[in-house]
Amino acid sequence: SLESYFENSKSTYIELNGVNTPKQLIGNALKERVLNIDHNTCEPGDEDTFFVADLGEVYRQHMRWKLNLPRVRPFYAVKCNPDPKVIRLLAELGTGFDCASKAEIEQVLKMDIDPSRIIYAQPCKTNSYVRYAASQGVKQMTFDNTDELYKIKKLFPGAELFLRISTDDSSSLCRLSLKFGAALDTTDELLALAKELELNVVGVSFHVGSGASDPFAFMKAVQDARSIFDQAESYGFNLHTLDVGGGFSTETFEDMATVLSEALDTYIPSHVQIIGEPGRYYVATAFTLACHIIARRTIKDPQSSEQSYMLYLNDGLYGNFSSIIFDHQNPVAQVLRTNDRFYFDTIAGQDSSDGVEYSIWGPTCDGIDRIAESIRFDHTLDMGDWLYFENMGAYTKCSATRFNGFSDAHDVIYVASEPGAKALMGMI
Ligand code: PLP
Repeated sequence: SLESYFENSKSTYIELNGVNTPKQLIGNALKERVLNIDHNTCEPGDEDTFFVADLGEVYRQHMRWKLNLPRVRPFYAVKCNPDPKVIRLLAELGTGFDCASKAEIEQVLKMDIDPSRIIYAQPCKTNSYVRYAASQGVKQMTFDNTDELYKIKKLFPGAELFLRISTDDSSSLCRLSLKFGAALDTTDELLALAKELELNVVGVSFHVGSGASDPFAFMKAVQDARSIFDQAESYGFNLHTLDVGGGFSTETFEDMATVLSEALDTYIPSHVQIIGEPGRYYVATAFTLACHIIARRTIKDPQSSEQSYMLYLNDGLYGNFSSIIFDHQNPVAQVLRTNDRFYFDTIAGQDSSDGVEYSIWGPTCDGIDRIAESIRFDHTLDMGDWLYFENMGAYTKCSATRFNGFSDAHDVIYVASEPGAKALMGMI
């Protein structure tokens, strides 16, 4: 059972990987890679920033989902992190996929995933992408306005449509209902038009905002969705699916799941299928990023004679730290290696209130490219040292740019701290 899976999984780390914890597995992978780089002699790019991805963590999150939300089939939101191995693992685990563009649909289809496992969850779609979806048999898609209904009538009248409604997303990090979602006083008109155009409305969808923190946003959204099911019935539609979107994160998952399950049981009859579009929840904690200190500037305070430093990394806001701007994140630096010693997962490598003060900057010309304004470490860090950042799996690599000529194609080293993930990915 899922409960016993969670009880037993820790003891299997030792057998499978010869190490005790997922953290050690990640630490070993970081160390091995860094030990192979000599920043005095390496080729340009060899010392580039890189990720370690623990596919075991993605697997654990899936089991946790199944345990807490057994009624909801996840359609992973590819936009969050289109890593091919994450997608392969989730495909093996049986999830569906939420795609936002032709390229995402194509990526998933190329992995031999059936088009029925894709929802094109973008209410305002590009014409040629709709034609592409039609040609590939990707039928499920969302809409939230009349213009889109006319577009779909013209380009793909056989599509299976989800009416996306707006939500109260005021407690979320990234508000989506400012841009998408039909106001509840417009759904009547939309359903009437869909009926008149003889379109096939099959469900309702919503998104409570990414990084949502108020579980009751789910309660309200499910209540609203229920009223649309009833409204649709009065137009002769027989809706069969509710899409509860994304907005889940690892820290609040159980709380969200409890309220959502209660809302589903109260308002949505058991014959209705439920799907979700989680992104962040599956990948945020699975990716660790290692960065190299490429330059340092010493700052002397004439009054206190205290010395602080500006550290320049080979990654920044225009790269994998794009999450600081777009996703309102605050990644925390930890020391990976200094003076030829490794500090992964030790207190000695963490922020220390009375250590040396640093600000941390990215490599581009722009003053906005600052990762941390002030952080203290017990170590005196220098060029050639390495830092690492945990929880870098969601909305990072996918929104990196190549500004100033820096690469956006960073290596990912894969490990799997779960036997199930190892087996599914052929890593044994
Ligand atoms: N579905 C849609 C339509 C989205 O726009 C997003 C994120 O922007 C997601 C799902 C994934 O959301 P999250 O990462 O919060 O789970």
